[in-house]
Amino acid sequence: MNILLLGSGGRENAFAWKIVNSPKCNRLFVAPGNAGTAEIATNVAISPTDFEGLAAFVLQNQIDMIVVGPEEPLVKGVSDYFKNHPTLSNLPVVGPPKLGAQLEGSKDFSKRFMQRHGIPTAGYETFTKETIDAGLDYLHSHSLPIVLKADGLAAGKGVLICTTREEAIESFKEMLLQSKFGAASDKVVVEEYLDGIELSVFVATDGLNYRILPEAKDYKRIGEADTGLNTGGMGAVSPVPFADAAFLHKVEERIVKPTVAGLKKDNIPFVGFLFIGLMNIKGNPYVIEYNVRMGDPETEAVLPRIGSDFVDLLLAMGTQNLDDYKLEILPHTCTTVVMVAGGYPGDYEKGHSIHGLPEASKKESAKIFHAGTKLGENGAVLTNGGRVLAITGMGESIQEALENAYATVSEISWEGAYFRRDIGQDILKYKN
Ligand code: AMP
Repeated sequence: MNILLLGSGGRENAFAWKIVNSPKCNRLFVAPGNAGTAEIATNVAISPTDFEGLAAFVLQNQIDMIVVGPEEPLVKGVSDYFKNHPTLSNLPVVGPPKLGAQLEGSKDFSKRFMQRHGIPTAGYETFTKETIDAGLDYLHSHSLPIVLKADGLAAGKGVLICTTREEAIESFKEMLLQSKFGAASDKVVVEEYLDGIELSVFVATDGLNYRILPEAKDYKRIGEADTGLNTGGMGAVSPVPFADAAFLHKVEERIVKPTVAGLKKDNIPFVGFLFIGLMNIKGNPYVIEYNVRMGDPETEAVLPRIGSDFVDLLLAMGTQNLDDYKLEILPHTCTTVVMVAGGYPGDYEKGHSIHGLPEASKKESAKIFHAGTKLGENGAVLTNGGRVLAITGMGESIQEALENAYATVSEISWEGAYFRRDIGQDILKYKN
């Protein structure tokens, strides 16, 4: 098969690695890709949201399947575009239609979906500028902390956890009246605070059937011990030792099954990956959010644990044959450490030469995925983003996987490189 993968992050480098390792892959193209995908596939300089450019490329290069990495092209309707294309409507596209992408694109839509289908989640109400007075009354009677969420996509920054009522009222007004998060906060979801331990479960679905992929825990804050600003993600661990079989069974029965059935009932042909952010509260799962694509860096810890053919999985999803697919999950642990540019998630520099990559890439016990990198003129790999590399260590236990990840991290450097040294430390106390 000739496959076109959309995106340019660590997630897409992990997808590309799994795809080219399949005997079913003839050629892989990545639009636009990064220096890591350039090593194993062909990068093409087309934006994932330039649908016409993508269609022309598909026609010229006999592409058999499109796989969508990030949410932006999904929310903008890339799957619908190909479904409605005069000659490409039968092309398998792994990624949900625009309406399905609303599960991520609108918090209000996803809360209404969960409520309609009886999926456990935090209690909530949604308000707009027109209903601000009712919203203020609601805040006055709400227990603390209060969670405020901008309805639309806000680059991962649209959720505020307010510990005082004054803070909640001020932020609520800023969101609705001063467009704190632009148009994303024209609607605000006010939500009950869920007190528990977070983890994420990933589901592959063809809209009819599903396969549950390995779960993961991620590390969002820039600082050690989960301090400082939120980032796109500084690390991940899979499997998650506190997600035992009994808990995962509840996740399947109470959340995955009603979610897939709900999508079907609502006539949303959801072909793609569902990322379910969960809170484990005393052994019971509650949904915090849905994303309509794989997480990054969780993908870099989850995909190396898939033993069955990955292109077969993608094709089974894209052609609605998932019922026949036998998913094999490998038992080893993967821990991912993300190396970022100094200053990230604030201002940071790009264009620094990355040292040590050729030697560090030789180890079997760890895998280096590129995120924000590009090739310089002389073939040198340069930093080109905030999150630069994701290093996944593998092992029999979390400890061993972490040792392998950090051994590789220590061989790589560039001016200002930073990483958290405490990935996975908080869950070592659980048996694994
Ligand atoms: P979201 O964008 O909805 O995933 O929210 C970002 C982060 O805010 C989550 O990963 C949680 O850590 C936190 N969060 C969101 N909603 C809640 C909630 N209802 N209770 C507690 N924490 C929450």
